Amino acid sequence: MILFKNAQIASEQTGPLPRADVLVEGEKIRAVGQNIEPPEGAEAQVIDCEGKILLPGLFDMHVHFRDPGRGDKETIKTGSEAAINGGVTGVLMMPNTTPAIDSGAGVQALLDNAARNARIRVLTSGCITKGQEGKDLAGIAGMKSKGVFLITDDGNPITDELVLRRAMDYAKNFELLVGTQCETPSLAGDGAMNEGAASYSLGIPGMPAISEEICLDRNLRIAQHTGAHIHIHGLSTACGMETVARFKNEGVKVSCEVAPHHLLFNEGDIGDYDTHFKTNPPLRTAEDNARLLQGLKEGIFDVIATNHAPHTQSDKNQDFTSAPFGITGLETALVSLYERFIKTGEFGWDVLVRRYSSEPRKLAKLDPVVIEEGATAEFVLFDPEGCTKFTKKFMRSKSSNTPFLDREVAGMVEMVVFNGEILLER
Ligand SMILES: [Zn+2]
Repeated sequence: MILFKNAQIASEQTGPLPRADVLVEGEKIRAVGQNIEPPEGAEAQVIDCEGKILLPGLFDMHVHFRDPGRGDKETIKTGSEAAINGGVTGVLMMPNTTPAIDSGAGVQALLDNAARNARIRVLTSGCITKGQEGKDLAGIAGMKSKGVFLITDDGNPITDELVLRRAMDYAKNFELLVGTQCETPSLAGDGAMNEGAASYSLGIPGMPAISEEICLDRNLRIAQHTGAHIHIHGLSTACGMETVARFKNEGVKVSCEVAPHHLLFNEGDIGDYDTHFKTNPPLRTAEDNARLLQGLKEGIFDVIATNHAPHTQSDKNQDFTSAPFGITGLETALVSLYERFIKTGEFGWDVLVRRYSSEPRKLAKLDPVVIEEGATAEFVLFDPEGCTKFTKKFMRSKSSNTPFLDREVAGMVEMVVFNGEILLER
């Protein structure tokens, strides 16, 4: 038994966090309340949580674990350990591995790998088209039968509207979400960052905001026409966000992610061609940061998801235009969102729990994770007075391509409990 004494309990409820003791027995939370003691004669490990917060384990529905195919960047094992390090106890992998996950057999092999190597819940999405080539539909029925709930070609936008329409018709019948990252390739061209004042002054080809907006509008219209549930990956522009809000109001089934880096950083942070800020969709403007934050608070965004995209140091050490897109996020998301937005009072723990734990699980048709009597013990002990320095030594991901590398951030994940087992203790 483990007894957590005097913790502040975070949940979807707004307002000050209630204080309670939490008693864990086996996989379950046996009791939550005041002055809880272990039953007579029972041994319990007592953890003093004075000043600390217990929050439900997080769920990140947009991660790239590069497994199979690029074990030099990440594997299911290292990726899931990175998740634990950041307080994340469930993830949804993107299917752009090598080979891509586009059949029931591919899904099964990946889930078998995860069962052997991950200590948390690892789910995978499947491709929309075979090999993410944008032409023939993938083995959608087979993937659905293996538990896939979302299909996506992620960073490879489907340019053929007929293919996307057929995929959505199909997905609707199978009650699958269709994920799309919105980019118009002819407009994005070989752009490496947001098109605007910063790209002009750095002399780097830009990707204009309308590249996202036009594709987003097109995809939402196809979703509206077919009645399918469309899920937007990593929306980056304020204008795009307003489009999503409008289609939501019209009753279109749409859910939408925002990545922490699109709230925290903008094109101005690229500074001296720092490839740790190169991501797709690109970092936009300071005004986008502010409006996306507002959209998160208003509920236009359903989920926070990191788009954890590991790359080797040698890949990222190339010049800015040649380096690959992508930054890691699993280990930094909770702490950095805490420091910038919760500690400062921009939003409460309720927003974080709703958007980074409950809602993504709801989309995955999983039970929400709660800290209540009888629930499975799956939570994070967080120390708001602690701090975390994101050194290479700290990180458990194989890659460390993050803007937070070697930076110190307020807040610390002190312990992670999954199915009643302590997976991490600092
Ligand atoms: Zn991605």
